Amino acid sequence: MKSIIIGSGFGGIAAALRLKAKNHSVTLIEKHPDLGGRARVFKKNGFTFDGGPTVITAPYLIEELFGLFNKKPENYIKLTPLKTWYQFIFEDGKKFDYSGDEEEMKKQIKKINEGDVEGYEKLVKFTKKIFDKGFTELADVPFDKPLMMMKQLPSLLKLKSYKSVYSLVSSYIKNEKLRRMLSMHPLLVGGNPFTTTSIYGLILYLEKKWGIHYSMGGTGNIINGLERLMNEEGIKLIKGHEVTNILSSNNKITGVKLNNQKEISADNVICNADPPAVYEKLLNQSKTNFLFEWKQKRMEYSMGLFVYYFGTKRTYPDVEHHTIKFGDKYKEHLNDIFDKKKLNNDISYYLHRPSATDKTMAPEGNDCFYVLVPVPNNQSKIDWKIEGDKMKDLVIDKMEKTLLPNLRKNIIEDFYLTPDYFEKELNTKFGSGFSIQPKFTQSAYFRFHNKSEVCEGLYFVGAGTHPGAGVPGVLSSAKVLDKII
Ligand SMILES: Cc1cc2nc3c(=O)[nH]c(=O)nc-3n(C[C@H](O)[C@H](O)[C@H](O)COP(=O)(O)OP(=O)(O)OC[C@H]3O[C@@H](n4cnc5c(N)ncnc54)[C@H](O)[C@@H]3O)c2cc1C
Repeated sequence: MKSIIIGSGFGGIAAALRLKAKNHSVTLIEKHPDLGGRARVFKKNGFTFDGGPTVITAPYLIEELFGLFNKKPENYIKLTPLKTWYQFIFEDGKKFDYSGDEEEMKKQIKKINEGDVEGYEKLVKFTKKIFDKGFTELADVPFDKPLMMMKQLPSLLKLKSYKSVYSLVSSYIKNEKLRRMLSMHPLLVGGNPFTTTSIYGLILYLEKKWGIHYSMGGTGNIINGLERLMNEEGIKLIKGHEVTNILSSNNKITGVKLNNQKEISADNVICNADPPAVYEKLLNQSKTNFLFEWKQKRMEYSMGLFVYYFGTKRTYPDVEHHTIKFGDKYKEHLNDIFDKKKLNNDISYYLHRPSATDKTMAPEGNDCFYVLVPVPNNQSKIDWKIEGDKMKDLVIDKMEKTLLPNLRKNIIEDFYLTPDYFEKELNTKFGSGFSIQPKFTQSAYFRFHNKSEVCEGLYFVGAGTHPGAGVPGVLSSAKVLDKII
């Protein structure tokens, strides 16, 4: 069986390895000269900037890829559990060290609102139930038949999937600070906590189950380890070439065409590229049906991301590895991003400081960072050539006031990415950070199917298909593929 994978994100790499383990002849084609997609690495003057994922959860999903070939993961990658998972900083400057230490968690909750300790315990118990269903049972099963969805509906309703994550958390927790903190997880996969289905409350429990890990040398080191494994196992890698057409005959896949006009034949094409963009631009969709066209049109896209990478000539030892700073008008800000598609100065942000754990990420005496600000996707028509520098100044100002004194004069290396990068370089529709949103009406059967609805031999892995975005999600999508190909 000849299989071609388009794209080398975590989902694409996992699919390549899983199909190779089933004795397919596998070719992986990546537009860029380096692998990883959103997990690409940018190296500049001694600084190593991981492009995207930094919080590694469910590490077994990475490790089992090595196990497919009886290889030991520790010979390729090194994952380290973190003690403090996130430091949250609220509008009034108060801090919360979020971790897997339940006693510490309750002590801090008690300080903010004693009455919420019991609600927190109940919330954790409830998210375990969601996790058992949504992750353990359903994350790696195919949802390509309506019957499968119908069968799950009663239990999903029992788990209150019609509620948003924020509303679920609010039914257990009274304090607004704690509500924000415990409902922020959808933002990690591109959703608005106020509209994302409470199924995604499972992330709260998933973190507790396996902890939060850091990949020594950066997340890019996992990609390097997986690339080495792919080379050892005889997967053919074509880097620096873009697929411009997916070829089919009588609605059955025959191969792909590259930007150098070369055609490669295949029995299966597995797209790790963004499904809405693939259907729109790469596939000749002469035979779609009315329902599929409606599905494509009604999709809502995740937020965009402004990511500012910077290196400083001094260190900031008081800053944690992962910091999340909430803006003042949190709900209004999210509404501006997701619905009104406009910028708002009252930003919330996530600050990554890998050099807190791993000194190799920056030259000695220096610190390495990225700060991520959720922004509208490119449906906004924002001109990032104008707004990019303004956003950079705004986020530096904010960080100088709270976390990183005198930051501006200490920056010695920097660059930023906007939704334009996600749209033009990573071929993502509307430059969304995480493909389509994780809403109930866009989850499981309602998402783009792993086995294409319109063309035989065409499959999808990655953020836009089931189960969804985030490293555990896209690695699980490759497990779904394993079951249907
Ligand atoms: C800034 C940021 C921070 C994040 N942080 C976290 C985190 O801490 N933890 C976590 O779990 N998740 C995180 N995520 C989400 C996670 O990174 C993604 O959901 C996941 O990595 C996406 O993987 P994927 O398999 O969908 O492929 P992608 O990474 O989207 O890769 C798709 C690849 O396909 C290639 N491609 C597209 N079209 C073509 C074509 N026509 N021909 C050839 N190649 C093509 C692209 O170049 C790209 O390399 C983060 C994401 C971002 C952007």
